[in-house]
Amino acid sequence: MSDSIKINRLNGRVAIVTASTEGIGFAIARRLASEGAKVIISSRKEEHVSNAVNKLEREGLHVTGLVCHVAKSEDRKKLFAASERLGGLDILISNAAVNPEVVGVLNTSEKAWDKIFDVNLKAAFLLSKESLPQLRKSKYGRIVFVSSISAYQHFLLPGAYSVSKTALLGLTKATAMQLGPQNITVNCVAPGTIETRFSTILTNTKSGMEWCLSKTLLGRLGKPDDISGVVAFLVSDDGGFVSGETIVASGGMTCHL
Ligand code: NAP
Repeated sequence: MSDSIKINRLNGRVAIVTASTEGIGFAIARRLASEGAKVIISSRKEEHVSNAVNKLEREGLHVTGLVCHVAKSEDRKKLFAASERLGGLDILISNAAVNPEVVGVLNTSEKAWDKIFDVNLKAAFLLSKESLPQLRKSKYGRIVFVSSISAYQHFLLPGAYSVSKTALLGLTKATAMQLGPQNITVNCVAPGTIETRFSTILTNTKSGMEWCLSKTLLGRLGKPDDISGVVAFLVSDDGGFVSGETIVASGGMTCHL
């Protein structure tokens, strides 16, 4: 994140960011906290949570953290109990995803299919549903799902992962329609290839890297902060009239779709 960003659009708001101990989720947590939000960080591993919280606390940011595997109901309950303790939830960022089998869709095992849909789609649905009692009380209720460029065109990852990301586009529309009258916006961000551990399946070979770069107009991979700023816009008052939309932040990959 640029040191020159010193805006406080989210002062006093409480945000949950799932899967936020590294990569895109961590960058989103950091950005929302640096704009004034109290942010609850989480992921599956205690050690990752405490490392991420310590790092952001050292930057003077207001964060707290706990273990939450998004597909586990008891973990999600703890997440919402934490936001309740902070005064009630304003912002939910549903960011977790897995891709245990990188194979063609019909070669996916049933076990992997279930895991992908449990984490990438069903948990997004359940988190949204379970956040409602608190979001309805907020004047600034916001939900953002993290999808992918592969939602639109499965050439990057031609399997169940991409199917789950396409489904998130539908979940965004349907949820936004239902929650609009309750003054809660629901949007989605679809990143292109972003430099994180997750994307190394695409970028860890010279040919894979060259192929990814050839698909962008800007000639570079994205950084996690290329996504966090988009999310910060969507959850701030600046994004208050945007709902049911997906913003693609891919360095221009859609021109190749
Ligand atoms: P990443 O750097 O590999 O980070 C993954 C994070 O998710 C870690 O904090 C991990 O921590 C956590 N996590 C994994 N499974 C979890 C679960 N079941 N419940 C809770 N937390 C979990 O990944 P990333 O690249 O930032 O990806 C974040 C999101 O962006 C995903 O939805 C991904 O599909 C999307 N995306 C990424 C790219 C890209 O190029 N990187 C492109 C398009 C979309 P623990 O190990 O402690 O759980």
